[in-house]
Amino acid sequence: MIRIFVFVITLVLVADCFSSQNDDSIFDGKKALEHIKTQVSYGPRIPSHPTAKQHTLEFIEGEISPLATKITSQDFSAYGLKGTNLWATFVGKDAKPNRRLMIGAHWDTRPISDQEALKHNRDQPSSGANDGASGVAVMLELARVFAISPPPITVDLVFFDLEDMGNINQLPFAIGAKEFVKRNPFYRPSEGVILDMVCDKDLSLPKELHSKRQAPELTNRLWEIAREQNASAFLNIDGTFVMDDHVPFLEAGIPVVDLIHFPFPDYWHTTRDTVDKCSADSLQQVGNVISSLVYDNN
Ligand SMILES: [Zn+2]
Repeated sequence: MIRIFVFVITLVLVADCFSSQNDDSIFDGKKALEHIKTQVSYGPRIPSHPTAKQHTLEFIEGEISPLATKITSQDFSAYGLKGTNLWATFVGKDAKPNRRLMIGAHWDTRPISDQEALKHNRDQPSSGANDGASGVAVMLELARVFAISPPPITVDLVFFDLEDMGNINQLPFAIGAKEFVKRNPFYRPSEGVILDMVCDKDLSLPKELHSKRQAPELTNRLWEIAREQNASAFLNIDGTFVMDDHVPFLEAGIPVVDLIHFPFPDYWHTTRDTVDKCSADSLQQVGNVISSLVYDNN
């Protein structure tokens, strides 16, 4: 009887150990999905909706501030627009001065739906569940994990504003990232990853071609991790050249890889970029690959 009792107690302890591991120190795609819902609930994160932008910034800062070693908010003006980049640093346990990883995503959304079939829908903003909120959501969930298990190397999470104004009144894409590179000349991470459109239920991540050409070693490492993890969203094929937040970094000689869904989904830059398109499993795959990149990086 005592033996059975001890056996049962052992089982309970082992089960509890596993469940607390799952709950706390491992990336959770379901938690990331909740972060998408929260951002979308504020409305379009665009220059003409300052309240939605303010709420989103407060949300991101509120989540990150208790977790990061340091957080900086950088306001800027460019092309007659005002923007804010948020930069959070998690100092590594075994921090080495020459090893520093940046993970970035844009927190703004597209103010128009120029891919809508019907012309009268095209002046509506996109809700940006996938295009905008998904990358931010993965980063917020990573921040939670980093606070519990400090990464071996220093990791910066950078949230870029004004990525998705491209081709509107002849504006470029990646305004916020370009300003960030320009305004922080002493910040030069050894490598980085941009997360953009990473929640689709049928996530498709081929190798983006600027990344493959200008950051080949990191591109190969990411897809090798994905292969080891059977992360089926990562396709070992070429995608296309995408103008995204990694390009200003590549232009500064910093190897940054863009993880971006391609071919773009049919709801891309439409009013249908909504939370129902997203899946916790896809977010989980991306979170797992980035976690390995961070924790196995020595
Ligand atoms: Zn976009």
